[in-house]
Amino acid sequence: MSLLVVGSVAFDALQTPFGSTDRTIGGAATYFSLAASLLAPVRLVGVVGDDFTAKEEAVFHGRKVDLAGLERAAGKSFFWSGRYSDDLRSRETLVTELNVFATFQPKLPNAYRDSQFVFLGNIDPALQRHVLEQMKRRPKLVALDTMNYWISGTPAELAKTLRLIDALLINDEEAVQLAGEHNLLRAAKRIFSMGPKAVIIKRGEYGAMLFHRDAILAVPAYPLEKLCDPTGAGDSFAGGFMGDLARQKKVDHASLRRAMIYGSVLGSFAVEQLGVARLKTLTRREVEARAKALVRMTSIRP
Ligand code: AMP
Repeated sequence: MSLLVVGSVAFDALQTPFGSTDRTIGGAATYFSLAASLLAPVRLVGVVGDDFTAKEEAVFHGRKVDLAGLERAAGKSFFWSGRYSDDLRSRETLVTELNVFATFQPKLPNAYRDSQFVFLGNIDPALQRHVLEQMKRRPKLVALDTMNYWISGTPAELAKTLRLIDALLINDEEAVQLAGEHNLLRAAKRIFSMGPKAVIIKRGEYGAMLFHRDAILAVPAYPLEKLCDPTGAGDSFAGGFMGDLARQKKVDHASLRRAMIYGSVLGSFAVEQLGVARLKTLTRREVEARAKALVRMTSIRP
C-alpha cells in the first residue's frame, strides 16, 4: 500500500553527551523513511542541494524508498545543528540554515498522486496543503506534523490545513500551545474541533497517547538502558505509525491502536545511536521482536 512522505532531507550537526558529529544525514523525511520502509514501501518528496551526492543517497539503499520525488536544486542542502543537555531532556537549536529548502515547492511525480497514506512532515502549512492539492483522489489517511514555529507564526494557514487532515501527530508542548489548553484530554478535544479525527500526542520518555473518538490509548516508550541521541525520535515514531497503517491497509480504531505500538518501537530504536545510525542497520525482525516485547510489557495478563 502506497505511503507518501514530504519533509526535510538535511545535513545535521549533533552534540550529545554520548557522541557528536559535524555533519551527518538527517531531516524529518529521512528519519521517517528509514523507519517506515521497514514496514511498507515509501515515496519521498523533498529537496536537496548539490552537496547531497550519491554517497549520501546511499543511506536509502537496500530500503524500499522511492526517490523519484527527491528534487535536486542548485545550492546547499538544509542544515540544522542541535546540542543536548547532559540528561538528554532538553535541546538547543544552534543553527538552522534553510538553503534550498527556503524556496521548496513540493512537486509530486505523477506516479505518487494516487498514494493512499500521506504524511505531511513539519513544513509550511501552505506547502502541506499544496501537496494534498496534487493528489488524484482523497487518500485513505492524511497525517500531519507541525511545530511551535507554524503554530504561532502562521496560525490561519495552519487552521486551513488542519481542516483537511485525518490525524495530527504532535508533541505535548505543541498540543498545549495549539489548543490553548494545559490538560491533554481537553487539548485533544479542542483539536478535534479543528478538523483531525485522531490526535496522537508524543510525550518523549513518557510514551505517546492516541485520542480517537471517545477512546484513549496510552503506549509507553520502550524502556532503554542507554539512550544516545533523541534527534528524529518523533519522525521515526511517525514512520513506524504510518508504516504499520500502510501495511495493514486500513484505518479503523483497531489499526490505529496497533500502529501506536510500531510508532513507539521505531522511536525507541532511533534514539539508541547517533543520527540515523541505528535505523540504518535495523531489521524488520528486530522491529517485530520489540513490538511483541512492548505489547507483553503493557499487558496485565502474564
Ligand atoms: P526532531 O528531533 O523530531 O525535531 O527531528 C530532527 C530533524 O528535523 C533533524 O534531522 C533536522 O534536520 C530536522 N529539522 C530541524 N528543524 C527543522 C525545520 N525547521 N524544518 C524541517 N526540518 C527540521
